[in-house]
Amino acid sequence: MAAAGKQAEEILEKSKKAGGYIFIVEGGVPTKKGHGTIAGKEMLDILKEFSGPAVAIIAVGSCATFGGVPAAKPNPSQIVGVTEALKKVGVNKPVINLDLCPVNVEYLVGVVVNYLLLGKLPELDSFGRPKMFYGQTIHDNCERRTHFDAGRFVEKFGAKEEALGYCLYKMGCKGPMTYSACPKIQYNDRVSWCVKAGGPCIGCAEHGWPDKFAGFYERLPDVKMVGIQATADKIGAVAAAATAAGIALHAVGTALSGRIKGEKEGGE
Ligand code: SF4
Repeated sequence: MAAAGKQAEEILEKSKKAGGYIFIVEGGVPTKKGHGTIAGKEMLDILKEFSGPAVAIIAVGSCATFGGVPAAKPNPSQIVGVTEALKKVGVNKPVINLDLCPVNVEYLVGVVVNYLLLGKLPELDSFGRPKMFYGQTIHDNCERRTHFDAGRFVEKFGAKEEALGYCLYKMGCKGPMTYSACPKIQYNDRVSWCVKAGGPCIGCAEHGWPDKFAGFYERLPDVKMVGIQATADKIGAVAAAATAAGIALHAVGTALSGRIKGEKEGGE
């Protein structure tokens, strides 16, 4: 809605009467009286008023989905996300959560276009996030993943390994436990994203962020992948052992091929 002031209020009223719209909410909802008002109305009441006639609500960004940064401890305004706020005011409507800080506009457009073209809401995961954008972890598709698998890690910000694209796991990357398509869709017309720019993922696509991930640069205790659970050090050690074994095998192979070559040349 491009309008503001009286004009905007009139459009809002008109839309509310017509109903059947998709209600897009940005920002957390203060539930402590007097801590969030627009034109004298409590934000919680505004949410209730406009959610009722809507087909569905899209909560845009981590503040709207779970409270985000303003809901971090001690949360003096008792801010909650849209789903929690709707429970408080007794409204039962589908909520599509687009966790991320900031939200990726391609996710938002994708959900709206999905509804316009197919006439239905996208399939959601247990946190109400569209599976088409939150079906895999960042770690699954990360461009630094081959370095993780090979045990090559950045040990210090600003080190040459960071520019070489080594894995940021030891710098606190939360990619292994964060579900989002950031590596594929990226930001700013697919120019870049956090890990590509050299910053570890801080987990902003997950419910409970930021408190759940407090200590953004602290290393995750372990990594769980299909059939594998290991620390970065173990992965590094395994990778080093595998490399050593590879070198040894290569040496044996070279010696053998030399012997065979020698045998052939010797005509034996
Ligand atoms: S730990 Fe982070 S930087 Fe390393 S591969 Fe996984 S997502 Fe990428």
